[in-house]
Amino acid sequence: MPISDPTDDRVDVEISARVAEVRQRIAVATKRGGHEQSVTLVAVTKNQDLGAVRAVVRAGVDDIGENRVQEAERKMAAFTEPVRWHLIGHLQRNKVNAATKFSVVHGVDSARLAEALQEAAKRAGVTLDVLAQVNVSGEVTKSGLSGSSVTAFGEHLRNFPNLRLMGVMTMAPLDAPEGVLRAVFGGARAVRSQLQQLGHPAPWLSMGMSGDFEVAVEEGATHVRLGTVLFGSRT
Ligand SMILES: *Cc1c(COP(=O)(O)O)cnc(C)c1O
Repeated sequence: MPISDPTDDRVDVEISARVAEVRQRIAVATKRGGHEQSVTLVAVTKNQDLGAVRAVVRAGVDDIGENRVQEAERKMAAFTEPVRWHLIGHLQRNKVNAATKFSVVHGVDSARLAEALQEAAKRAGVTLDVLAQVNVSGEVTKSGLSGSSVTAFGEHLRNFPNLRLMGVMTMAPLDAPEGVLRAVFGGARAVRSQLQQLGHPAPWLSMGMSGDFEVAVEEGATHVRLGTVLFGSRT
């Protein structure tokens, strides 16, 4: 059910209940995984209206994920409460100026894009938190750095003073069996270690969506990006 009326208390109760349930599942998965990390719930509000953003923020969520720059800009302009906006989708180089308005840019998948973002962040006078998007499963349909290009990327990023490389973002194949999920998420964790060895603090691992977030948390995710499990399916 799409959420249309932000003043509808029933909707708020429902969203609050879903947030609470998801937090509980995250807590249990964290314990099972044994990485003892803290996990940030990023509510993905793409294709949802402002009422959905308000409801999830009232339910205590401080992190909002959007995958299109323009849709996010409209919501940011209309939404004044202090939340962190995460750009989670693929970023085109001609949108880097707008990308500097986000708290975190998750999808940095090439040195050229990083360079364009560095220039934009410098112009805007900000230091931007970014994540290297990796594609460890080698799926051709997904963007992301391959495992073998990560070291060169990490070395390159040392030259960009306006970007803070906070870690790694990845997406697993949809409906993959658990063994594949663990290989993808564990692979992303290994890539983060590579970046740490290059001197980046890289404390974060952004991985896990509605269908696979518990496995991702067991494998060490610090940020899960959840849409469907909070809002229902996107229409
Ligand atoms: C849409 C999207 C999500 C959320 O997906 P759900 O399966 O609805 O939880 C997470 N990450 C990215 C990059 C997305 O585009």
